[in-house]
Amino acid sequence: MSQIRTAINRIQDEIKSAQERSPYGAKDVLLLAVTKNVDAERMKEAMTAGISAFGENRVQEIEKKYDQIPTEASWHLIGHLQKNKVKYIINKVALIHSLDSTALAEEINKRAQQVNLVMPVLVQVNVADEETKFGVTPDEAIPLIQGIRALPHLKISGLMTIAPLVDEAEKVRPVFRQLRELRDQIQEMNLPGVSMDYLSMGMTNDYQIAVEEGANIVRIGSGIFGARLPN
Ligand SMILES: *Cc1c(COP(=O)(O)O)cnc(C)c1O
Repeated sequence: MSQIRTAINRIQDEIKSAQERSPYGAKDVLLLAVTKNVDAERMKEAMTAGISAFGENRVQEIEKKYDQIPTEASWHLIGHLQKNKVKYIINKVALIHSLDSTALAEEINKRAQQVNLVMPVLVQVNVADEETKFGVTPDEAIPLIQGIRALPHLKISGLMTIAPLVDEAEKVRPVFRQLRELRDQIQEMNLPGVSMDYLSMGMTNDYQIAVEEGANIVRIGSGIFGARLPN
């Protein structure tokens, strides 16, 4: 069996165990294969091993590989998105994980309208409040959502976070828990135009804990494809 397939099978098993051992485990968890610096051949190999969705953090890389990948795959934009790049990916991606400003929401809404679609987005929350990361603070999330939820070509579909890098994965549990609690709080507000379908959290080093805390999208790169070369 290929290394990619072996890794995917193992991660799927770990996700399943984490779902089962926790009261917060989601019913379905999407394993999003993060394919930055991964070529189309290896992406197709991942598809034969059951992957159906790819996460990229750069617009340019989606554009470069898009036509080489079978159309049944879906693409997710997981990295910071500049307003002037929205037009390049608006009809290519199924979900944008990194919404973090009103201005970006307005641009996505405008471009989605031009191609006649409604774009699902997740609000990126910087739970740990690290200065180097994008995303809104937990306090800013609800006001942001309130301000943009009426945009007709945008569908607010959940929350995303990137946990800080720590030596022991268990240390990030409070970050994941806080995002889940924020999700619950927003859900209880029953805001028109807002659904909290997705909780995108957990990467190679911490996905089991994220699933225990209720993640239903985990974003895994190196755990599937091996260590990335530094950019
Ligand atoms: C690179 C990346 C991942 C995957 O990281 P790994 O540690 O390789 O699993 C997940 N989410 C985002 C936003 C990323 O940029």
